[in-house]
Amino acid sequence: SKYTKEDIIRLVREDDVEFIRMQFTDIFGQLKNVAITASQIEKAVNNEIMIDGSSIEGFVRINESDQYLRPDLDTFTILPWRPQHGKVARLICDVYNPDGTPFAGDPRGVLKKVLKRAADMGYSFNVGPECEFFLFQTDEEGKPTTTTSDEAGYFDLGPLDHGESTRREICLALEQMGFEIEASHHEVAAGQHEIDFRYADALTAADNIMTFKLAVKTLAQKNGLHATFMPKPVFGINGSGMHTNMSLFKDGKNVFADPSDKRGLSKEAYAFIAGILAHIRGMAAITNPLVNSYKRLVPGYEAPCYLAWSASNRSALIRIPAARGNGTRVELRCPDPSANPYLNMAVCLAAGLDGIEKGMTPPDEITENIFAMDAATREAKGIKSLPGTLKEAVDCLKEDAVICTALGEHVLGQYVEGKEKEWDAYRTHVSKWEIDRYLVMF
Ligand code: ADP
Ligand code: MG
Ligand code: MG
Ligand code: MG
Ligand code: MG
Repeated sequence: SKYTKEDIIRLVREDDVEFIRMQFTDIFGQLKNVAITASQIEKAVNNEIMIDGSSIEGFVRINESDQYLRPDLDTFTILPWRPQHGKVARLICDVYNPDGTPFAGDPRGVLKKVLKRAADMGYSFNVGPECEFFLFQTDEEGKPTTTTSDEAGYFDLGPLDHGESTRREICLALEQMGFEIEASHHEVAAGQHEIDFRYADALTAADNIMTFKLAVKTLAQKNGLHATFMPKPVFGINGSGMHTNMSLFKDGKNVFADPSDKRGLSKEAYAFIAGILAHIRGMAAITNPLVNSYKRLVPGYEAPCYLAWSASNRSALIRIPAARGNGTRVELRCPDPSANPYLNMAVCLAAGLDGIEKGMTPPDEITENIFAMDAATREAKGIKSLPGTLKEAVDCLKEDAVICTALGEHVLGQYVEGKEKEWDAYRTHVSKWEIDRYLVMF
């Protein structure tokens, strides 16, 4: 590893760090932190910082509430948007029980467990996420709206596009934190952006997504904008996805590549694809966790809804980008940025490994535009759909033993309970759509 305890203590002292944020993520993907002062750093690196887990959603009950944070020392970084005198640093932590065992409700621990299984098979798992988001204007009271700043700039040539300059600031901050930004661009919809950073081992990639979201939200706010990772904030335009690019490496080499195959893909790559297709309906409650997620997964907006794979086709759920050699990868296109990145990667890997372990073969590649097919054609070709609602996704999750096992009993139980409540709140709510549609008619 990069840093020892002594390194961290020295960095805090020499770098004029005043506060350290001890960060972790709850099962629904919310970033949590406990701030400590620099005087407590020794305690922190010795895993002695305690939290009350009962106040965190999906963690534990009151009677078993004490938990300990074990910082991953290599995640030490200065938050560049905070004051540069008396700096603020952060450490990403694992959550442990008082008896020294990993806490089963810690999503980072869930991912580590599946990564261990992969490591036992000789694999390391690399992930490159493409995180999309919207930058919206705030109103006079500073409250977020769903109005985009580009719209104002479109008719009005005067003001510069606030979104573009904010995105540039985000990229600079992330680079200061050690990110390698590969691309940053405006997306299809007004106010929508994407920033791509270089792929990494899955644990680092998941940590990076949490850092990325914090940076985007913080710097947007500093610029008077509101950043949202909500999957479908505006009806009628593209939603935000988090395409998840994945590959397995063995001894530093990409095992998905095989130059002797007609598509340049190995048996492992095909089996991994087959495993994802076999489990995606059970994974959807994790990859697409909100009621709102399913409003993005509809035909016509570049988001997938049918279970198919293709080497070229952007209407498919799984695309194999053209890159070969170490860039050979499987791109899963359904996840959205509201997903808990640790659980997202854990279920993707578990599904892919299941495909490899069972020697699965994927169905035929679909090269036609699936959105243009009618239901009968899809049926004839055996093309199934993603769940249409969060409710359907939760039901599918409960039936998928491989995905349930990957999550573990604790996370599964808390997650299903939380999502069923969320669905019920939505189901019983009387919406504006219903009033508009029915109030006068009946
Ligand atoms: P797209 O063509 O879908 O827009 P992007 O270029 O935006 O793709 O993003 C591609 C992502 O895939 C980047 O994050 C990149 O680092 C990542 N990537 C490249 N090679 C690999 C690999 N071998 N394994 C996992 N991810 C990879
Ligand atoms: Mg992209
Ligand atoms: Mg995109
Ligand atoms: Mg898009
Ligand atoms: Mg993509």
